[in-house]
Amino acid sequence: MSQSFSALGLSAELTRVVAEQGYTEPTPVQAQAIPLILEGRDVLAGAQTGTGKTAGFTLPLLQRLATMPARADANAQPRQRVRALILTPTRELAAQIEESVRTYGKYMKLKSTLIYGGVNINPQIDALRRGVDILVATPGRLLDHLQQKTLELSNVEILVLDEADRMLDMGFIRDIRRVLAVLPAKRQNLLFSATFSDEIRKLADGLLHNPAMVEVARRNAESELVAQRVHPVDSWVKRDLLVHLVSSGDWKQVLVFTRMKSGANRLSEYLCKAGIEATAIHGNKSQPARTRALAGFKDGTVRVLVATDIAARGLDIEELPHVVNFELPNVPEDYVHRIGRTGRAGSSGEALSLVSAEERPLLAAIEKLLTRRIDKQIVEGFEPGKTPQPAATATPAAPRGSHDGNRRGGSPGRDARNRGQAPARSGAPAPAPVRAAPPQSPPRAPQRPRADAGVATAALFRSPARRGG
Ligand code: AMP
Repeated sequence: MSQSFSALGLSAELTRVVAEQGYTEPTPVQAQAIPLILEGRDVLAGAQTGTGKTAGFTLPLLQRLATMPARADANAQPRQRVRALILTPTRELAAQIEESVRTYGKYMKLKSTLIYGGVNINPQIDALRRGVDILVATPGRLLDHLQQKTLELSNVEILVLDEADRMLDMGFIRDIRRVLAVLPAKRQNLLFSATFSDEIRKLADGLLHNPAMVEVARRNAESELVAQRVHPVDSWVKRDLLVHLVSSGDWKQVLVFTRMKSGANRLSEYLCKAGIEATAIHGNKSQPARTRALAGFKDGTVRVLVATDIAARGLDIEELPHVVNFELPNVPEDYVHRIGRTGRAGSSGEALSLVSAEERPLLAAIEKLLTRRIDKQIVEGFEPGKTPQPAATATPAAPRGSHDGNRRGGSPGRDARNRGQAPARSGAPAPAPVRAAPPQSPPRAPQRPRADAGVATAALFRSPARRGG
């Protein structure tokens, strides 16, 4: 794919800016979406952060506004001519998008403004009064303005719902519907979402007219910029393998995904005890706490950020050198979303998955979605079946995902690699077993590999790419 921006139909002002940004060629989502948006089509795009989607809708949106005569609603106040409304779930994203609008629109005469909650509303009211062509907003505060009648949306020509899935996850559907109700019926609609749940489809059905589909998530997963690898490993050895990978690779910034909040917490505690600065991010942490954690991660004081899918979705983090799936997600599409955090346009990234025998069905589902196999590599010293399962988890009743199970008091593993698993490391009372959520297909009774079952377990993962072990 080597296509120029001007070939997509973008004007000289825009191709100039794009060149200044150092973009040499459009990303796949840009190549597909830009011509469609320029034509005036409604678009439903499956694209996640890191694909270049922001420029994918901002560039053609700017061009449309610059070339179309503004619609004049006789009832609207003269300066209240919001012509494009971009709704997005978080203030970070809103700020990022508005920044992009300013950057890409710098040779044009269009005015943009940013509206989000948690800050004084008055400066926003002033900015709206001064006149706005492009409004970037989070839904809650936008509604506040509508209710206070400090905002008029009857001139909107283009509506963008960015990260629509996240907006729904965050409970914005009602707010979105209330905003939609005050928009003029005739407008262009662009809906961007990383995933397509039934709820998103329902929203899209009611919103989009004869939409053109743009789907790049899968292609992104196939991106050569993201090196993907699976490390087969026993679940109870995962934490030590992670410590080993971070230390031996001297990784400075790694985002680690777990399935559960509790697992995220305990993993970050474990890493800290092993001398690796780590923080967990949960959905129920306050916004300031999340901002602090994120700032620490960005400035390098926190090397490892442990997050669940939902928590990570609210975070403005991307372009990471390393993403680790400590546990595979239950939904294969989430894998694509996770690894999309690495290796965005122009930079490379590595996405590693620590996969225990119990997670094989999840891995199979992901490989099916990607329509290819991910390289498997057993790390020397961490071969599946090599380390006996700690006694505390070796009972038949042990939950799946027993990497957490081995924290339930009892005697710590005796193996040298379990040295970090001192019972006192969390200082907390014995936590309830963390149960990994079941994969989509019902799990078979977990086969607890015994030490002597190692060969069989390893064989499950054997692939030509494997080395060592
Ligand atoms: P987004 O997916 O919109 O969050 O964009 C991801 C990043 O890719 C942003 O930092 C953009 O500056 C960058 N980017 C967007 N388009 C291109 C392109 N065509 N070539 C290189 N980088 C790009």
